[in-house]
Amino acid sequence: MLETPLRDMATLREMRILLVDDEPLNVALLDALLGDEGFTQVRSITDSRKVVAVCSEFVPDLILLDLMMPHLDGFAVMQRLAVLREPDEFMPIMVLTADITESTKKRALSAGATDFLTKPFDRTEAVLRISNLLRTRRMHVAIAAQNEQLEQKVSERTAKLEETLVELRATQQQVVQRERLSALGAMVTGIAHDFNNSLALILGYGELLQRECRRLSGSRDLTDYAQTIITAALDAAGTVSRLREFHRPSDEGGAQVPVSLSQLAEQSVAFTRPRWEAESHARGLPIEIHTECMATPPISGQAAELREMLTNLIFNAVDAMPQGGTITLRTYEGIDSVVLEVTDTGVGMTEEVRRRCLEPFFTTKGARGSGLGLAMVYGTVQRHRGEVEIESKPGRGTTFQFTFPIDTSGEQAVDTPDVAAPKPLRILVVDDQPVLCEVLAESLTRDWHTVEVATNGREALEKFEAGEFDLVITDKAMPEMNGDQLAAAVKVRRPEVKVVMLTGFGEFEEGEEIESEFIDFLLPKPATMVEVRNAIGRVMGAAIGITA
Ligand code: ADP
Ligand code: MG
Repeated sequence: MLETPLRDMATLREMRILLVDDEPLNVALLDALLGDEGFTQVRSITDSRKVVAVCSEFVPDLILLDLMMPHLDGFAVMQRLAVLREPDEFMPIMVLTADITESTKKRALSAGATDFLTKPFDRTEAVLRISNLLRTRRMHVAIAAQNEQLEQKVSERTAKLEETLVELRATQQQVVQRERLSALGAMVTGIAHDFNNSLALILGYGELLQRECRRLSGSRDLTDYAQTIITAALDAAGTVSRLREFHRPSDEGGAQVPVSLSQLAEQSVAFTRPRWEAESHARGLPIEIHTECMATPPISGQAAELREMLTNLIFNAVDAMPQGGTITLRTYEGIDSVVLEVTDTGVGMTEEVRRRCLEPFFTTKGARGSGLGLAMVYGTVQRHRGEVEIESKPGRGTTFQFTFPIDTSGEQAVDTPDVAAPKPLRILVVDDQPVLCEVLAESLTRDWHTVEVATNGREALEKFEAGEFDLVITDKAMPEMNGDQLAAAVKVRRPEVKVVMLTGFGEFEEGEEIESEFIDFLLPKPATMVEVRNAIGRVMGAAIGITA
């Protein structure tokens, strides 16, 4: 802060000086002196008891203080001013003295005096000392202002750092969660595979047992027992199948087509209406669902899967609003993406629940919940190369925000054709597990189909070449010649023969291509007879491409 001497003096003369002396003559003298020297802001008082009040209003830069005064002497005044002063503030006090003793000087210094001016005043000395004190005061004020600025900057930086730290923690949490989910996914795939094979047997024999019971004994009890076995196995298969939704490579579910999230959101509201309207009436509390859907560009995906995802989210939101409330489905275009938000005004989640809610089997609903809804949602998001973020606070509702990349093909989605009714067929069933083969063959035979079985690819091909078939149902994983190779061999010989392939869970590696040209339908194991019939209906009814 470099100043010319002229400017320096000019600013000093604008600083505030307070004059305290009980002797009016002294006051007049000093007042005149300061006025002559160009000081414009001078205030004087003769009653020292007013110093504190004047200081808080006038805020002097320098006090010229007499020591010997009635009522309140200079020492008492300094004591009171010391209380008023900020800890780091430099408030110069120049004591006006006649001739005083050394000990009085010391006492004045320790009471807070900065300098002395001896009466009668030498004009030049007085102006010099006053100017010096004012200059020092001015520097202190400037430094204090600078310090304040620095402190402000430091606290801004600290706030920013804290913000970054919070963001970092959130990202770290996300990474940890992603890792945990992917480890769980791997485990789930393994378990699902083994469970499925067992369930296929239980289901198959359950169905056979039931038919035999009906045919032979006609016993209601036995038929019901068998039905219980079938129902339990189907339930378990359903759980396994939903679990599998949580971790299924994107290429296993069939082709992805351009779909409109906005349209799906509207459809899902209509689709779930019976449930939330029923809940709403049952509780006598209103549940409202709003959609705020923009005309968004299509994303690449599977309509059925996305609809299922939305259904899950809506049901969760309904569950979270025991007192009623509002659910809002919102879609809009983001940066190269379509954003979908599902917001409810429900009970919200604690931080712990929010972090774990995507995990399979995580539920806070006890026996009422399966904990698979959001795991399935997560799987769907993954397969659609999307991202999910959850914002929730207890008592403040929840928002699920999804971001999906925009589809780049520029095509329109096509509806799946209807299922055609089955007619008697010549079918070759191939599975390296004779039991499974047998179960399937028996059931198909009862549906009036003609069935031959083979327990390996080579045997199957021999039988295929020797006979006449409309359809081959084959397992995928078999030693020597696997299902894919068999399908290829079949299609080379007789392209019009349909091939349905049964796959256990996890038999598709991520990124593996499905041999779509040789396979007409993929059927996940364990398939119930209803599913097998549907599959047959579809491949025989219409020449549709690969789907699952
Ligand atoms: P389920 O609904 O069977 O419990 P989900 O996987 O669908 O399983 O959900 C897991 C858990 O996440 C729920 O039990 C609940 O605690 C929490 N949750 C999910 N959606 C919401 C929501 N909209 N509001 C509050 N909590 C929710
Ligand atoms: Mg749920």
